[in-house]
Amino acid sequence: MAKTPKGEIELLRASIRYHSWLYHHLDDPQIPDYEYDQMVKRLQELERIHPELVDPDSPTQKIGEVGLELFRPIVHQVPMMSLDNVFDPKELKSYFQRVRKGLSLTETSRLRWVFELKIDGLAITLIYRHGYLDTAATRGNGQVGEDVTANVMTIKSIPKQLKSSDGSPLPELLEVRGEVYMTKDAFARLNEAQLSANLPLFANPRNCAAGSLRQKDPKITAKRELSFWAYQLVQIEGGVKLGSHSESLRYLTSLGFPVSPEIKLFDDEDEILAEISDLENRRHNLSYEIDGAVLKIDDLELRQALGFTARAPRWAIAYKLAPEERETKLLNIEVSIGKSGKATPFAVLEPVLVAGSMVSRATLHNQDQVRIKDVRVGDTVIVRKAGDVIPEVIRPVLELRPDDAALWQFPTRCPLCGSPLERLEGESDTYCSNPYCQGRTIQRIAHFCSRSALDIEGLGETRVALFVDLGLISEPPDIYRLSHDQLIGLEGFGEKSVNALLEAIQKSKSKPLSNLLVGLSIRHVGEGAARAIARQFRTLERLMSATKEEIESIDGVGEKIALSVLEFFSNPKTYAICHQLIDLGVATVESDGSEQVNLEQNLSGKTVVVTGTLSRFTRDEAESAIAARGGKATSSVSSKTFALVVGSDPGSSKLTKAESLGVPIIGEEQFLILLDTGEIGTINPSGRAE
Ligand code: NAD
Repeated sequence: MAKTPKGEIELLRASIRYHSWLYHHLDDPQIPDYEYDQMVKRLQELERIHPELVDPDSPTQKIGEVGLELFRPIVHQVPMMSLDNVFDPKELKSYFQRVRKGLSLTETSRLRWVFELKIDGLAITLIYRHGYLDTAATRGNGQVGEDVTANVMTIKSIPKQLKSSDGSPLPELLEVRGEVYMTKDAFARLNEAQLSANLPLFANPRNCAAGSLRQKDPKITAKRELSFWAYQLVQIEGGVKLGSHSESLRYLTSLGFPVSPEIKLFDDEDEILAEISDLENRRHNLSYEIDGAVLKIDDLELRQALGFTARAPRWAIAYKLAPEERETKLLNIEVSIGKSGKATPFAVLEPVLVAGSMVSRATLHNQDQVRIKDVRVGDTVIVRKAGDVIPEVIRPVLELRPDDAALWQFPTRCPLCGSPLERLEGESDTYCSNPYCQGRTIQRIAHFCSRSALDIEGLGETRVALFVDLGLISEPPDIYRLSHDQLIGLEGFGEKSVNALLEAIQKSKSKPLSNLLVGLSIRHVGEGAARAIARQFRTLERLMSATKEEIESIDGVGEKIALSVLEFFSNPKTYAICHQLIDLGVATVESDGSEQVNLEQNLSGKTVVVTGTLSRFTRDEAESAIAARGGKATSSVSSKTFALVVGSDPGSSKLTKAESLGVPIIGEEQFLILLDTGEIGTINPSGRAE
């Protein structure tokens, strides 16, 4: 049937309808958005070439078919439309030209655009009568939606009663639209709970938010930590007169609606393109997922002049960012052995371009996740790569599973040394039982050489594996015994590279104790704990003779870490390794920071907490900057906290606690002022730094 254009069109329409049903009605898509969008694009293209085959019933002309039997139907007074998409700057520029033409403007005339984030959630419309939330409905098929009022009542950030900030009367009727979404943190918490209850995992925050809102029992919705951004005022009766979208967003803020602080105004199209390219880079710093940006004409009269197509407004467009989920073939499942001996299953994939980079391997995390996701060799799988996060396999596409795809069994023996793999009671991870397993040795030494540890340039995993294989090294001290004669002539080692490597090895000897502690791979000792311990004891010798009480009394270091440090040094082998490092001249000292003092101690007696990622400081640098000014940087918020510094992707529990205790919440700009003056400047009404 697909051989003729008509046949292909019919196949595409059926497939699009089916996947749209899974996505919108069941909140359980089986294919990535990218693959879906490609089908729609192909159908649009065919319908453009063959106008005689255009059908008003085609999915290109309508908003997804949605079954409305779950909830009471609500007829929308103003239809809830979709958005047209563009995928690259060229398509966006032609859209701008089309708009100018539609408004009979010259090619160079400027328009005012509102730039918003395209939040990946579920559209909702809220109707308020005399200031009270009356009805909440989903989009449904655009004309008729589902009554989800009881569920929406459980979402804290949606106002149930409006407030007039300047005392002016509230409108008799107000209809507001926005996106219900789930933050990345809330999503991770929910999936952790699913995993420990042995329940299926949710694929992504979007489907999870949609599924959570469309629950028959509002008690389930209430438990799901849903959030909301308002992005459109649709109807207002008996209230203020508004001439532009940006004005209406300000008005919504004044009534108590959460409106995204990311919304910006532009009248220069090149600046819009620059903003989109910036968004590509920073999308992962946001605490929620987006799949693009939305551009809307600001002037409401111009909007009216442009009007709508059958399914979307002409005055707005969605710019879709590079897809983070793609489909590919799962060629094999293998197991890697980490520095602690942890056996991690990973997928070997047919290479696929995801979020701008080629992916051929993706993690499957652990035995339980492979079982719960039930991915099998030969499956077509959905792979996801978000920012710097390691790519992961989300799920198989069941409809494409080959008949002979067999259940995958986790190996019982280490693929590198053949020793039994062991899973400890109550843990989800499996470990190689051989402490001298070669895979472990390679990872442990490669970690010792990594940037956060001894930072030996030119000694990455491949070279470490080569040296271990040749018997040149088996423990970190052996690195400092490598000689010119041993290295020269090895594959990839000429005179220049041997000298460069030996120089880098020498240089690493002067790294501080904290880096060495990181490099030694002491269980539970990450960068923060290593720094705190090194600052307290200053030398490796002193730490090696420390007691449990001395270690656990350090701020940020508890009993678990103290026991692990003691266990590490009481092991004769690791004890000997440390002595060898000292003898080989590796610096095992931490500076007391006295060389950088002389700073005004304007934070003396003040406790500051940092959460999220800052752009100018690493977490350690921010905490050192506080300490260098006499302040104390702690990891939890209490009533004694002087300020909570918030970067992107902050811990939501810290934010909530600070808000409830009235602790000032400040951004990075204000953190700089705090370091400079010891004081907090003006804070806007939301509690965030201006
Ligand atoms: P859309 O999701 O591309 O755009 C419209 C929606 O954007 C609105 O309904 C609203 O919910 C949302 N939105 C987010 N931020 C917004 C903002 N600031 N202003 C206005 N709207 C905002 O269109 P659609 O018709 O809802 O769905 C189509 C999309 O859904 C496809 O492009 C595809 O990516 C996805 N989809 C995927 C599958 C699948 O199987 N994977 C199936 C169907 C649809």
